[in-house]
Amino acid sequence: MVYYSHSKLDTFEQCRLKYKYRYIDKIVPEIPKTIEAHFGIVIHKTLEWFYNKIMEGTIPSINDLIFYYSDTWGEEYDPNIEIIDKSQTLEGYFNRGVEFLTSYYTKNFPFKDNTIGTEEKIEISLGETGEIKLVGYVDRLVHNLEKDEIEIHDYKTTNSVLMKEKIENSRQLALYSIGIKEIFGREKNVSMVWHFLAHDVKFSSRKTNEELEELKKEVVELIKRIESTTDFPANVSRLCDWCDFRNICTARNSKRM
Ligand code: SF4
Repeated sequence: MVYYSHSKLDTFEQCRLKYKYRYIDKIVPEIPKTIEAHFGIVIHKTLEWFYNKIMEGTIPSINDLIFYYSDTWGEEYDPNIEIIDKSQTLEGYFNRGVEFLTSYYTKNFPFKDNTIGTEEKIEISLGETGEIKLVGYVDRLVHNLEKDEIEIHDYKTTNSVLMKEKIENSRQLALYSIGIKEIFGREKNVSMVWHFLAHDVKFSSRKTNEELEELKKEVVELIKRIESTTDFPANVSRLCDWCDFRNICTARNSKRM
């Protein structure tokens, strides 16, 4: 059985050298966490806790939500956190999280969308005999009773909002749609919902069964390409600043000299 994840596929497409470092050489990078990673983890953990409470039958107050966020920020804090964009500060990020959560709370109260799971593990079988497994975690699953539809919710903590076409073509939630249909049946309506917390907006989209079948074929082809690859060149780009291997990558460091 071969196991893949969306980020493994993404890494291969972004930079093969990074792929080699992480998945072939299995190097565990000794590098400080970036503020973006810290921020994303804390926001996701806070919303996970929040919706778990709702599923247990209690709606935490907005103060409870911010307290939990603040505590989690402290628990996850590492004094070596690196701020790549020097125009930003740690305090600025913390305050931004308070703003995101406050406006999310205000906009979505009283949270009656019928959440049925958080951080749900999704497994997809691919290939002729299901020999490839693709594993991922959904931020939040909702059963929309009005539409009898399963919604896959994803939180984005970046400043940028992706263009509509880019969202609709993004692979991650479409792959999770396949996994959800493996659980609930091929004819179940499934939608994908992205929350761009920095802009307090959400987008939703759906894929047809035909589009999902096409995606499966593309992913199997990509995995075949990965398995037969022997050459792992570097792809130096602005994303290198956030790469976990930036300190050991000779390609990136020689370009900076
Ligand atoms: S630093 Fe850049 S070039 Fe080097 S492995 Fe990371 S993404 Fe690739």
